[in-house]
Amino acid sequence: MPLDSFHRDINYLRISLTDRCNLRCQYCMPLHGLTFVPDPELLTAEEIEKVVRAAAGIGFRKFRLTGGEPTLRPDLIEITRRIAGVSGAHDLGMTTNGMLLERLARPLKEAGLKRVNVHVDSLNEERVKKLMRFVDLDNVWRGIRAAEAAGLLPVKLNAVVARGYNEDDVVELARLTVANDWQMRYIELMPLGSGPEAQFSIDRYVSNVETKRKIEAALGTLTPLENADPSDEAVNYRLPGARGVIGFISPVSEPYCGTCNRMRLTADGKFHLCLLHDDELDVKKILRGGGTVADIQEVLNLAITAKPTGHGLAIGVHTQNRKMHQIGG
Ligand code: SAM
Ligand code: SF4
Repeated sequence: MPLDSFHRDINYLRISLTDRCNLRCQYCMPLHGLTFVPDPELLTAEEIEKVVRAAAGIGFRKFRLTGGEPTLRPDLIEITRRIAGVSGAHDLGMTTNGMLLERLARPLKEAGLKRVNVHVDSLNEERVKKLMRFVDLDNVWRGIRAAEAAGLLPVKLNAVVARGYNEDDVVELARLTVANDWQMRYIELMPLGSGPEAQFSIDRYVSNVETKRKIEAALGTLTPLENADPSDEAVNYRLPGARGVIGFISPVSEPYCGTCNRMRLTADGKFHLCLLHDDELDVKKILRGGGTVADIQEVLNLAITAKPTGHGLAIGVHTQNRKMHQIGG
């Protein structure tokens, strides 16, 4: 069991497949001035599999594909098949904006993906376009339905709530859980990087206390649910008579660093130790220098030991060197 210096069991690896994206959400990617990792610097499918093999070998159990937008990787199905084939790495999910999910859902399921989280901030076409620039709600919707039909379950939907953009749309999103066995999760804005997206995240922050109050005022009291997984970052509830679940992810108003079980692998091959800090350890250097699985495990164990105790948002400290699309959430 990989324990860090604070006795947290670090068993969940989030793998960023690319820093590119087909959208430009206001809080994640600016419209101008972006540079991307050149293709030869991205970890290959084979290299990713090797890191997963190393992680599973020291007790990692949960794996998630993210980005940028993971569905932009042309070898996504191969990567999925390789990871799902690693002994101990059966719990494999993906976080996506859903734009390309319709045609990928079935092949992903066949390759061994277990479930998807689809990011959609509002059901209102005009407002969602202002926030998740270039999104097409019909595409996302078809993607969600395809994921459900393919058995990528439970379908989880992620909404980031931003003042002046979608803070009233949280109610219509919550209503989806009445008839559908989905999990609708609300994420508080976090600043990453030092550009306009970080300032946006600070200026437009909405606390989940407010979001929860708004949902309850419109749809009735939320009943708390026991968390099956204690390291689940969402605090879960159910609306009266609903099939699905409402979750609140509140890194700012209610930090969950004490139960953090995550390590992150960036698309350019660095272990990123905490979403909201800059500390990283290079694993690509080991991979491309002929390193073995044991060599990778050595770096990973160092990364686990060096994981910071928690984030410093309350004192104004956050990741400077990377934006959200370069880590993967
Ligand atoms: N492109 C995929 C997507 O949007 O789901 C995967 C990558 S995205 C970086 C992963 C998650 O980060 C998304 O659910 C998104 O809502 C969330 N996210 C992005 N920027 C954020 C921010 N500044 N604060 C909080 N969550 C953010
Ligand atoms: Fe792309 Fe996801 Fe970032 Fe939006 S949150 S810009 S969809 S990577």
